[in-house]
Amino acid sequence: MKLITGTTKLLGVIGNPIKHSLSPVMHNAAIAALGLDYVYVALPVAPSDLATAIAGFAAIDLRGFSITIPHKQAIIPLLNQVSDVAQAIGAVNTVWRTEQGWSGTNTDVIGFLAPLKIYDRDWSQTTAVILGNGGAARAVVAGCAQLGCAAVKVVGRDRQKLAAFQQSWVTSPIPVELSIHTWDELPSLLPDADLIVNSTPIGMHPHDQASPLEDAIATQIAQGAIAYDLIYTPSPTRFLRQAQQQGAIAIDGLEMLVQQGAAALEIWLGQTAPVEVMRQALRDYLGL
Ligand code: NAP
Repeated sequence: MKLITGTTKLLGVIGNPIKHSLSPVMHNAAIAALGLDYVYVALPVAPSDLATAIAGFAAIDLRGFSITIPHKQAIIPLLNQVSDVAQAIGAVNTVWRTEQGWSGTNTDVIGFLAPLKIYDRDWSQTTAVILGNGGAARAVVAGCAQLGCAAVKVVGRDRQKLAAFQQSWVTSPIPVELSIHTWDELPSLLPDADLIVNSTPIGMHPHDQASPLEDAIATQIAQGAIAYDLIYTPSPTRFLRQAQQQGAIAIDGLEMLVQQGAAALEIWLGQTAPVEVMRQALRDYLGL
């Protein structure tokens, strides 16, 4: 193991709580593989301390950091520059230091898109159905917009939240034509869906037997469609198993997690991230 010395540079992740973050696992594995004099640590920051913490990070020359719940939105006014994609999503997950101060972006879209890029599809002819309208769904919508999907259909259970979600994209730097739907509409939405993304936590460990889709509704998934679950434990989730039974392609959330981290590391270090090392470190840690 590499020695931490007086020259070691600091990266980290802020959140509250933060002790369950997987980011230190994959980033320190990458730093070790690259033989760099860096260390990546989890930094608990209470919401009331956020501005103080960010000012302190500049003072101690922290090179960059990841942001997780509950700071992804609150950090935006504390940054000197925010990328278009982070503005569209309304959340920042990666911050780095420039001569102008702190810059922020959101690498979840890169992470979401990475495992889709291996499929040779004419995305301009595809319909995406997104289950859930929370924070992760925003990155998925931005990803579908970048793919150029013909239709993006967002399914939620709260009509007010759905309407606000749709409205937020009207003036977004990443414009997207999206429609909003309630869960009872799924039987008519699924047969035409080329990409179905679960962005709800339904089915996440320890609720391994749960699925966002009842079995009878899951039979509406078209053969050859791509079913994408943002959940990474268990793998596969019940939703992905249901989709595979219909002849759909299944993608779990691990690659998104790895690739959003790799994109952040590349911003901080200015060099290619060892994606396979990061993936394996997470697999080992999660027992996958
Ligand atoms: P979030 O902001 O809390 O949003 C969750 C969404 O799911 C909300 O729209 C919520 O509806 C809906 N939902 C929750 N329980 C539901 C239920 N029983 N029935 C119907 N809808 C339900 O969470 P998030 O940050 O978007 O995360 C969502 C999932 O994505 C989590 O499992 C998370 O671990 C995963 N994720 C993975 C990655 C990755 O890198 N792989 C990245 C981000 C997130 P309401 O708004 O009506 O409550």
